[in-house]
Amino acid sequence: MHFDVGVIGAGPAGLSAAFGLKANGVNVAVFEKYLWGGTCPNYGCDPKKFLVSATDALRHTQLLQGKGITGNLKVDWPTLMKRKEGYTSLTPEKTLNGLKSSGIPSFSGLATFIDENTIELPDGQQIHADKWILAMGQMPRKVQFSGSNFALSSEDFLKMPEMPEDITFIGAGYIAVEFASLANLAGSQVRLIIRGDKALRGFDEELTTELMEEFKQRGIELLYESSVESLSQQNGKILVKLTNEKEFLTDKVFAATGRVANIQGMNLEKAGVQYDENGILVDDKLMTSNPTIFAIGDVAKAGVPKLTPVGAYQGRYIARFISENLDEPITYPVIPTTVFASP
Ligand code: NDP
Repeated sequence: MHFDVGVIGAGPAGLSAAFGLKANGVNVAVFEKYLWGGTCPNYGCDPKKFLVSATDALRHTQLLQGKGITGNLKVDWPTLMKRKEGYTSLTPEKTLNGLKSSGIPSFSGLATFIDENTIELPDGQQIHADKWILAMGQMPRKVQFSGSNFALSSEDFLKMPEMPEDITFIGAGYIAVEFASLANLAGSQVRLIIRGDKALRGFDEELTTELMEEFKQRGIELLYESSVESLSQQNGKILVKLTNEKEFLTDKVFAATGRVANIQGMNLEKAGVQYDENGILVDDKLMTSNPTIFAIGDVAKAGVPKLTPVGAYQGRYIARFISENLDEPITYPVIPTTVFASP
């Protein structure tokens, strides 16, 4: 089977490239090994914002207590999760229907390169394309210590049917800080294990200092200069031992220590595509070391923040670059970022 362009990864980046190409008359197909729609709509920003909308509403009422609002409201996590599920569970089907109605063929399963322009699917089907766009996104970085299998991921958090009484996060970046705020407002006892002396490193320090001060006032425990030595099970809880000999029991541990390129098992070497631990190497036209293969979205090491709107923007650029035979490098507007942490 042959296409002009094959897009691997059906998240916001890959989909914006595919729809843009199709609109310009290119014969394009999309390949996805997991959930159609990708990380952000299925188990990332969209479900997170759904949950944050409830905790933000609660926070507003807390701040107005005695100033015109009375009565104690609380988050009903199981009901909130069911509503969230009702929204996100439709995403894969909606995505596939959207592709179908636009006349874009879709293939499920891990695409493995067998040469510079051909991939093979698990059922043995081989597909050739003149150009490929890699948009596989990222996956959680695995933590390495004894009992690391007890550490859950952000995807697990966004699927939790009940809010545990006590939650521990490893890391203090976007995910750990946002989920810590959420879990705290949903009534859980929350703790952050921070390896250095700063949360949200790279953000404005005046603001992060104030945010962490507020976290402390809200009862979130911040364990600075701390690393996990081991996790083990004890009477239905998780025993966390830190390298500084401190230890405690918690209900669930979530690791949020960054994300790595989702390229496992794809045989990128066969395609002549180079990558390092921060993603697939691309030039200023998002071209990889193979001039017929491009990388966009979180999987690309493009020197810009790995955020959904950035991936979609790169998708629109690459669709025009390919279909209109452009030669200009990508340029970006100012890219704002925000941490959904109340405030
Ligand atoms: P981040 O890169 O934001 O933060 C990683 C955190 O883990 C940092 O605190 C880092 O510490 C710490 N860390 C890294 N390695 C280790 C280790 N081996 N042991 C202990 N701690 C470690 O990653 P996240 O996982 O929080 O988020 C992943 C990505 O998801 C983000 O970079 C962003 O692209 C995206 N995202 C964006 C959101 C938004 O736009 N609002 C929300 C959620 C996710 P240190 O600072 O010392 O390096």
